[in-house]
Amino acid sequence: MGVWSGSCHCGAVRFRVEAEIDELTRCDCSLCRRRGALMARVHERQLTIEAGEEHLTLYQWNTRVARHWFCRTCGIYTFHRKRAAPDHYGVNVGCLEAFDPTAYPFRAADGLTMSVRSGEGRAGWSGPRED
Ligand SMILES: [Zn+2]
Repeated sequence: MGVWSGSCHCGAVRFRVEAEIDELTRCDCSLCRRRGALMARVHERQLTIEAGEEHLTLYQWNTRVARHWFCRTCGIYTFHRKRAAPDHYGVNVGCLEAFDPTAYPFRAADGLTMSVRSGEGRAGWSGPRED
C-alpha cells in the first residue's frame, strides 16, 4: 500500500491517494489522447480531496457518465470518475509527489474502442453510436 500527496500545478487542488497500484495506463480515446496523462486506477475510498474542491471544474462528453475533473486555474487534469467503473477514479500520476512511474507495469488502454460517438471508435466496436 502506497500513500501519495497529489496536487494540480498551481496547488489550489490537493488530494491524497492511499492505494495498491498495480499498473499504469494511457488511454487512446479522443480526450485522453489530447491530455496525455499516465493514469492509475484507485477505488473512491482511496482518494481524498484535501483542499480546493471548489477549484475543480467538471468536463463531460460522449455518454456523460465519466466525470473528468481539472483545476479551473491551471487547467491540470487531476483525476476522473470512470465510466466502466463509476466507483473508481483514474488518477493522473503526474500530479503525485515522489511517484516513480517507471516502477510500475504500463498498459495501453483501449479507450477508442469504447467510444460511442459517431465517427469515432474502431470498426470492431459493436455498441451503439451517438451523435
Ligand atoms: Zn491548479
